[in-house]
Amino acid sequence: MTKTMMITKEGEAFLARIQEISGEAITACDQCGTCSGSCPMASEMDITPSEMIRKTQMGQQDVLSTKAMWLCAACFACTVRCPRGIDLSKIAEALRQIQEAALDQAE
Ligand code: SF4
Ligand code: SF4
Repeated sequence: MTKTMMITKEGEAFLARIQEISGEAITACDQCGTCSGSCPMASEMDITPSEMIRKTQMGQQDVLSTKAMWLCAACFACTVRCPRGIDLSKIAEALRQIQEAALDQAE
């Protein structure tokens, strides 16, 4: 049986914002996992690159408290192998930008 995942309205807005900032088609990711297998930083990350994009697809804002987005080295090893041509470094950068803005506001 297929398990359907629901995305909240707040989650949809979060996803739309990350798509807009990054310019990447996040919803095109089919979770093949190639990026996680290609990433030289994956062993240091708390979630894998494919989990980072999955959380973003689902609008799960707890992705902002993960270490992975800070560790992306923009090496493009994932991008060149991604069957959907997704640049994860742009997504990580967008997540960092949102988190940095939230931290600045909290100060
Ligand atoms: S390689 Fe591309 S399509 Fe596959 S999980 Fe990573 S981002 Fe998604
Ligand atoms: S660009 Fe970032 S997520 Fe992609 S392989 Fe390099 S370090 Fe990993």
